[in-house]
Amino acid sequence: MSLIHKTAAELGALIASGEASAVEVAQAHLDRIAAVEPKVNAFLHVDAETALAQARRVDERRAAGEELGPLAGVPIAHKDVFTTTDMPTTAGSKILEGWRPPYDATVTRRLREAGLVILGKTNLDEFAMGSSTENSAYGVTRNPWDLSRIPGGSSGGSSAAVAAYQAPLSTGTDTGGSIRQPAAVTGIVGMKPTYGGSSRYGLIAFASSLDTPGPFARNVMDAALLHEAFSGHDPMDSTSIDAAVPRVVEAAREGDVDGLRIGVVKEFGGEGYQAGVLARFQETVELLESLGAKVIEVSCPSFTTALPAYYLIAPSECSSNLARFDAMRYGLRVGDDGTRSAEEVMALTRAAGFGPEVKRRIILGTYALSSGYYDAYYGQAQKVRTLIARDFEAAFQQVDVLISPTTPTTAFPIGERADDPMAMYLADLCTIPTNLAGNAAISIPCGLADEDGLPVGLQIMAPVLGDDRCYRVGAAVERALNDRWGGSLLSRAPEL
Ligand code: GLN
Repeated sequence: MSLIHKTAAELGALIASGEASAVEVAQAHLDRIAAVEPKVNAFLHVDAETALAQARRVDERRAAGEELGPLAGVPIAHKDVFTTTDMPTTAGSKILEGWRPPYDATVTRRLREAGLVILGKTNLDEFAMGSSTENSAYGVTRNPWDLSRIPGGSSGGSSAAVAAYQAPLSTGTDTGGSIRQPAAVTGIVGMKPTYGGSSRYGLIAFASSLDTPGPFARNVMDAALLHEAFSGHDPMDSTSIDAAVPRVVEAAREGDVDGLRIGVVKEFGGEGYQAGVLARFQETVELLESLGAKVIEVSCPSFTTALPAYYLIAPSECSSNLARFDAMRYGLRVGDDGTRSAEEVMALTRAAGFGPEVKRRIILGTYALSSGYYDAYYGQAQKVRTLIARDFEAAFQQVDVLISPTTPTTAFPIGERADDPMAMYLADLCTIPTNLAGNAAISIPCGLADEDGLPVGLQIMAPVLGDDRCYRVGAAVERALNDRWGGSLLSRAPEL
């Protein structure tokens, strides 16, 4: 088997034992990127020299007799919303074109400390606002399963890179679904950790009370290894949880559902859901029962109001966060010819630098926060948020995890929802409640829809700091399904 088809755990072991060098592994992935990137467009920036230099350092450390961690020398694609001192960071926006951050995000720093080799920065919806990566200022990314379709969003470059074997691992951020949804539609694993379980320091902010960094991988164990590598308390992030990282790697290794109580969320299904998505989900429910889980239906009535609440809270927070792009401190500056006031330059810069979706949200958020409307919109949405958290709490009194389809449909064609924000927002119907409540959830592949042969995701939701449960259940389902299929789902994707 070629190096690019190996798992991250296998690559780490090969490098640690000296059977493969980190340089060799990095080069194999750089060659793959060169071969398929013209079709996929997953990356905004690939830096072969920097990547090979990082790999060389890992090989030197090994040669010097240092003990290497499980992911040392393993290549990774890094979402271009995390700051990196050695590569540009744009958040998919023109307003940050060419910006070189003066510091590394905590996630970046921990990747480096774990010896991961950062190949480049991946494409995303501008400031992580979107569900298709079509809102990037730098062109669309294509789904490796079908190049005419979206790879999900906002972390679509990261999901496509892993699904296209350009990297075994990638990072993402999930504010309303941006890890789980792209993972689902590209047939890979994506995890949103508990809010505060992974650091936001150096992550360009979208909605600070929701933004959560998390891993993408081609299997549950690799995702757990990456999760463990960059998570945990960070004094640089005031909302970081000062607690031990849940034992995700152990849970992924054990992978067991026997005797577990699993709740099917009643509100996620029926109208608006693609038949093939519901069919694969139903089969997975039966599989869980056959593996010894006790499956019951659970009602979470407030979940039906999560989407409107999110589309008030997230834009409100973004309207405040994005005020910092004022043409004075970062990136783009338009019209500064000595004849204009600072305010005029700011207005011209923001008009030219932000795309239409970002502007829509700034306007919406500014409105929802303005005096006279605050209570009716933002305040009301915050109350709904409390109700959603209570629904989760009540549900987790009855069951250990909740499950649902990750997305109502499979990957849609590029362009189909581009002019219809409401249709686009529906892609995150099932993922948003978890963000509003701050708990953990994972998406794993559970089959192909009959209508279009495209991947379907299973979402597994766990309580706050119950991240290990996502991996435990995910690994059990993955093992059973791979046995049934005679390999991973991704191995059935067409050749690029
Ligand atoms: N699709 C959602 C949005 O557009 C979620 C994005 C995200 O999780 N970053 O806001």
